[in-house]
Amino acid sequence: LCVEHPLGPGQPVALTREQAHYLFGVMRLSVGATVALFNGRDGEWSAEVVDAGKRGGTLECREQTAPQGSPPDLWLCFAPVKKTRTDFIVEKAVELGVRRLLPVQTEFTNSERIRRDRLQAHAVEAAEQCGATFVPEVAELVRLDRLLAGWDGARQILFCDEALAGQDAPLSGLAPGPWAVLIGPEGGFSQPERDRLRGMDAAHPVALGPRILRADTAAVAALVLWQTRLGD
Ligand code: SAM
Repeated sequence: LCVEHPLGPGQPVALTREQAHYLFGVMRLSVGATVALFNGRDGEWSAEVVDAGKRGGTLECREQTAPQGSPPDLWLCFAPVKKTRTDFIVEKAVELGVRRLLPVQTEFTNSERIRRDRLQAHAVEAAEQCGATFVPEVAELVRLDRLLAGWDGARQILFCDEALAGQDAPLSGLAPGPWAVLIGPEGGFSQPERDRLRGMDAAHPVALGPRILRADTAAVAALVLWQTRLGD
């Protein structure tokens, strides 16, 4: 369970109404049960239920069961697509291990707004589900041109360019370090966006195979590709 509180020996953790509902209503836990807790800073802790109510409850930390983990310094920049597919992208990115999620608005992106709180909640759920001790931050939606204008050249971009599908775009020669994977929207990148990215030293255009993948599939494929070829 992901909580805000600091975690340490004997530390009490007050539950929100939703957390209490989940633990005592859905999972049917009661006083004396053990729950695994993390807060993104203090690793994973086992905690005991010391008070269980309908609208709240309290856990008490017992011992640390895993040190604080941190995913590799990889960002996922992605154009939001349809709601459930965007949820999928967030979920899989957390499972596969990214440090930051940046929704970007490109020329052909349909949504001009995102429900950041909703996506952040999805990230928390995904981390809880896969036993991660770290939840990546979901940033505010940012326009691609603005993002690139302020880009720190020390972070390289794995620019997934559907125009290269089926072509040879090797990753050899690229070095590990801080990276960002960039995935476009359903309609792909516009030619000016493509030209802009191809003109950046930090951006490396890559193909994800011979076919045009859906944006959500492309995000998963690119993260796995990065991990196997460039991850440390
Ligand atoms: N119509 C599909 C959909 O509904 O999602 C296609 C979307 S595809 C244009 C979305 C993004 O996935 C592209 O902008 C690109 O970043 C990435 N992508 C898909 N296939 C790719 C490929 N073969 N090589 C590189 N990138 C790819």
